[in-house]
Amino acid sequence: MERSLRKNFLNAIHGNLVNRIPALSVTQTGTVELMDMTGSAWPEAHSNPEKMAALALAGHEIAGLEAVRYPYCLTVLAETMGCEVNMGTKDIQPSVLSHPFSKGPENLRIPENLLKRGRIPTVLKATEILAARTENGTQIEIPLIAGMEGPLTVFTHLAEVKNCLIWGLKKPDYFKTFMESCTEICIEYANSLFDRGADALCMPDGGLVGSRMMPPSILEDSVKPFYKHLCERVNGPVILHICGDVGDSLRTLSECGFEAISIEEKVSLRVAKEAIGDRARLIGNVSPSRTLLFGTPDTVKAEAKQCLSAGVDILAPGCGIAPRTPLANIRALVEARDEWYEEKE
Ligand SMILES: [Zn+2]
Repeated sequence: MERSLRKNFLNAIHGNLVNRIPALSVTQTGTVELMDMTGSAWPEAHSNPEKMAALALAGHEIAGLEAVRYPYCLTVLAETMGCEVNMGTKDIQPSVLSHPFSKGPENLRIPENLLKRGRIPTVLKATEILAARTENGTQIEIPLIAGMEGPLTVFTHLAEVKNCLIWGLKKPDYFKTFMESCTEICIEYANSLFDRGADALCMPDGGLVGSRMMPPSILEDSVKPFYKHLCERVNGPVILHICGDVGDSLRTLSECGFEAISIEEKVSLRVAKEAIGDRARLIGNVSPSRTLLFGTPDTVKAEAKQCLSAGVDILAPGCGIAPRTPLANIRALVEARDEWYEEKE
């Protein structure tokens, strides 16, 4: 079983037949328990490639998830482009503190040495470490899922959310210039992750869409073309993760070329499946706070089985796993998937 996890995941993401529906997380997996067990804790694991890799691996080897997911923040590209970042603590993720392009895109340039800046080398090195792992001389077949900011997230980090929204309506040329540059940055970084051995990327990028602050016309006319361009130019499967209640926008988002869309528990799986049809695979959506953080293995299992019965293509938390989530609750995801198949027979 172990050696086929990568193949099984790629089959799932491309909509092919699977042995079993994969149970994993496409969003962050670092928890305090895993940090203590591996000696690889935040904030150090955000900048040290060996620690980043060790903590990611623990999500599979200790928590049982059927993929390795890293890094643990959405600030890598923002920092590379000049945003100040607070690196957080052992149980608080890094966050962006400053928005160097809040006046406009005049001085916005894509650095020539983009891939050598900030913590990009850390994530690339961690990818190499994870991809090179072998057992008895053969490569270990566990899917590597790298997380990265999408173009809209980079835009809001560089310019601040309110400016992004105002320019979408009043300065479409500004909006377009930012989206162009941010998309190119994402494409270059994404392809470097695939070159180093990542199997898929997860791009959490729809906070604005999920919060319903962005008018649907802006999404359709000013964001979708860039998502399409990105999906065409990136050399591997991309999962779009959307925080919040994204229901109404799912059809538009599913027309961009993403292999899969990962949704929160605020969205009904049946509604989501109907909206995206067979244009993308559906990933979700066990509640990371109500159930994984505060529930018990039994409540996790009950909710996970509901997701499977509702037709998810990959069983996963609806958003990043909270750092204080008990290990037993994460393990219950895979156990639930196994029980669900046994109960079906
Ligand atoms: Zn989310």
